[in-house]
Amino acid sequence: MDMSAAGALKAAREEGVDIVLDGDDLLLEAPSRPRAALIGLLRRHKAEILELLRPGKDGWSNEDWLGLFDERAGIAEFSGGLPREEAEAIAFKACVCEWLNRNPVQSSPSRCVGCGGRDLAHDPVLPFGLEPTGHAWLHSGCWPTWYTGRELEAVRALADMGIFSPSARRGLEPKS
Ligand SMILES: [Zn+2]
Repeated sequence: MDMSAAGALKAAREEGVDIVLDGDDLLLEAPSRPRAALIGLLRRHKAEILELLRPGKDGWSNEDWLGLFDERAGIAEFSGGLPREEAEAIAFKACVCEWLNRNPVQSSPSRCVGCGGRDLAHDPVLPFGLEPTGHAWLHSGCWPTWYTGRELEAVRALADMGIFSPSARRGLEPKS
């Protein structure tokens, strides 16, 4: 993720220019012709802006994720009165939750998606998750490890989009 592309987008929106994706092109929608400097800026960052606006397989673009993070951090900081770092920690958690919801795992009820083992009378495979699209089925003992892996998957996907928890950004947490 390129911050200067996000910056260019923000600058455009502040000037009332809306940018929409049109295949491999950017369309500018504005009440009047945008400043030449702004057009130059957008042209320079076109490839990164396209990447930022293009929806991922979960239907959200990088910009959508950055928007959710900013919105949640802003609410916690300004309405909740929390210090910025705590606000960002809450925002990061919200992003992880949303990512897990938007990237659900559905598995067959006949096997545990954690260990691959069978549904047993003394250790049944149970449905986990609230996803309307279906459930992941696991032995209850396999759930914690599997869920930790899922959270890691979310953290990695968010990191690829430039979204980090405040502690990860400080480099206190392992980046694995
Ligand atoms: Zn299992």
